Amino acid sequence: MSVGSLSETAAATGRGSVRIGVDVGGTTVHAVAVGPDDVVLAEHRMPTRRGAEAVVRDIVAAAAAVAPGVAREDAQGASDALSSRGVVAVGLGVPGLVDRRTGRVRAAVNLGLDDVALGPLVARGVGVPVVVENDVNAAALGAARVVGETDSLALLNVGTGIAAGLVHEGRVVRGANGFAGELGHLPAHPTARPCPCGQRGCLETVASGMALSRDWPVASGHPAVDLLAAVRAGRPRAIEVWTRFVDAVGLAAQAVATAYDPAVIVLGGGLSALGEPFRDGVCAALDSRAAHSPFLRSMAVAGRVVLLPASPPVAPLGAAAVAQVAAAGA
Ligand SMILES: [Zn+2]
Repeated sequence: MSVGSLSETAAATGRGSVRIGVDVGGTTVHAVAVGPDDVVLAEHRMPTRRGAEAVVRDIVAAAAAVAPGVAREDAQGASDALSSRGVVAVGLGVPGLVDRRTGRVRAAVNLGLDDVALGPLVARGVGVPVVVENDVNAAALGAARVVGETDSLALLNVGTGIAAGLVHEGRVVRGANGFAGELGHLPAHPTARPCPCGQRGCLETVASGMALSRDWPVASGHPAVDLLAAVRAGRPRAIEVWTRFVDAVGLAAQAVATAYDPAVIVLGGGLSALGEPFRDGVCAALDSRAAHSPFLRSMAVAGRVVLLPASPPVAPLGAAAVAQVAAAGA
């Protein structure tokens, strides 16, 4: 997968086969236009604004920015339908509970969205079919394509919180009510810390960026980066915090392996930017657990854990993969 040339853009436009994927994160709206064979034709990032009206407007603007050709605007400043620019569908990855059938989004707290008909509202702005998917599920689809494992993969997304996206035989596994992979609130950690969800010991209270911010507060910069530097410097308190963190992420990987038995577990989310030390720490924690358990050794969880590549961007690519469903008329 690569950023395509202008001639590829023109060829893709001619076939009317461009899909657009937009990942709407807590800080960034990230859009890509994707041609045949998942070639990335264009990419655009803009800061996220909160509230339904701003989110819809920004998604439409981001999609227009990556669509092939030049936008024409009418007297009211509205862009023409993206279909005239070769776009067949738009896929969105958004946090919260997503009703795929209606495109409604609930409980997307970071975006200030609750019970908003996001799909229909964006469709009105872009003039092509829009499919909405939970952001981690969409990113899992993107990771499956990037890693080359679409049969059986879990994306363990470790960002502000922790959750898993699951792909089985090329499709997202959502469960009956969309809760499949929501393991952040599995009360499995022995620290038994209180969680805002009302339980104690949720994995998210230890295995998340939020937890690291609490356990390793820094005046400036990123807590995880600072923590890792302190671990390298041999500071005992840092080693204690880091060990507890990677052990809890390992526990989350073990929970995913036990529930879904995926062939590959991809470590993704914001904290995957820590790189190989993150994967090494999680794998060491898993190996340490397995040392005492023939059962865990037989599961060989550590051997399935890979780090999400820094590029291409799996979240908007996955959203574009979601759009393929609409483009195919399914
Ligand atoms: Zn919880």
